[in-house]
Amino acid sequence: MSELTPMTTMKLSERIRQIGPSATLAASARAAELRAEGIDVLDLGPGQPDFDTPAHIREAGVRAIREGRTRYTAVAGIPELREAVADLYSLREGVVYRPEETMVTAGGKQGLFNIFAALLDPGDEVIIPTPYWVSFPEQVKLAGGVPVYVDTDEADGFALRAETILDACTERTKVVILNTPSNPSGAVIGPSDMEDLAQLAIERGFYLLVDECYASLVYDGADHVTPLTAGAEAQDVTIFCGSCSKSYAMTGWRVGYIAGPAPLIKACSSLQGHSTSNASSVSQYAALEALTGDQTPVRQMLTTFAERRDVVVPRIREIPGMACVDPRGAFYAFPNVSELLGEEMATSADLAGWLIDECHVVTVPGTAFGRDGHLRLSYATSMTVLEEALDRIANACEKLTS
Ligand code: PLP
Repeated sequence: MSELTPMTTMKLSERIRQIGPSATLAASARAAELRAEGIDVLDLGPGQPDFDTPAHIREAGVRAIREGRTRYTAVAGIPELREAVADLYSLREGVVYRPEETMVTAGGKQGLFNIFAALLDPGDEVIIPTPYWVSFPEQVKLAGGVPVYVDTDEADGFALRAETILDACTERTKVVILNTPSNPSGAVIGPSDMEDLAQLAIERGFYLLVDECYASLVYDGADHVTPLTAGAEAQDVTIFCGSCSKSYAMTGWRVGYIAGPAPLIKACSSLQGHSTSNASSVSQYAALEALTGDQTPVRQMLTTFAERRDVVVPRIREIPGMACVDPRGAFYAFPNVSELLGEEMATSADLAGWLIDECHVVTVPGTAFGRDGHLRLSYATSMTVLEEALDRIANACEKLTS
């Protein structure tokens, strides 16, 4: 081929052709386009807190730079941070987690990616309850696994019950994903369901992958519950994936962590050693301060999110054609909008697109989370924006229903 001949066909790998772009990022891109045209867009799409990283954490990052902590670190993280993660789990779960049963990753996303790559052989099945976070199926597919979807019941508050999982279990079930609190539904797994799920995992020999990125955001005084509520024997089948992103408003710092059986951590560490190496050194020092320093900002953010939820959910319920279960954690509402759909506007993606054009409010369609007929509305934005956005959506939906 001469230098001037354009490359017309790019044969991408089979693996990469199985995955699609992120719908949440697509919504943000559309909002940015409209803003560039000078349109006043209100964005209820974001999956990140609207708060700044707390000052003492930022300071720790600045201090790390000043002290020259800018070289490679150990792949699995600086020893102090692994120790802090081990302490966090030992204290919370009432069992011993050693530093070698933990590692630091570039966000929860990389933690999950490492885990799937280290665990899954082609054809291994991963049970993913719907509605699910957008990246679970894509990451499972990239690792050669087969996503198996099970629907949680909206009338039951999207609660995940062991019976639902049991129906989908096969010989090939390797992992069940427990995302509690859930993005997008806000559902939180309670103690008795968690105990049943843990017993099932022990009996059937699959792993429970607990994505607890929103662990600090559980409302109404409820506890964040994990499989170890069933007893110490659940430790062998439990893999935790946590993140500093949402709890400490640290999305851009890119720090997450995993905790689980030592051989898995060793495998994930080898993988990370050949892909991205350590999470940013500076961010790790900031994360150390986040995990071990003053937790007051975490409680303040929880209070603010709870106040917003208490305004947003009743307002959504007043919108013609919308119904909404109570989110018990995270910072999203996931209203059912199926009454607004019909021949002209067939899917939630159509409705989300129409809302952007009609009233300049960005939401994320349920299709992105495996549950059409819903929209995800983030309340990680100011009360002023929320009130105005809900006014606009209500006015637009009135036109649809009248
Ligand atoms: N898991 C869930 C359920 C999420 O919602 C997100 C981010 O939106 C992540 C994991 C990954 O977050 P991060 O990579 O910023 O830690």
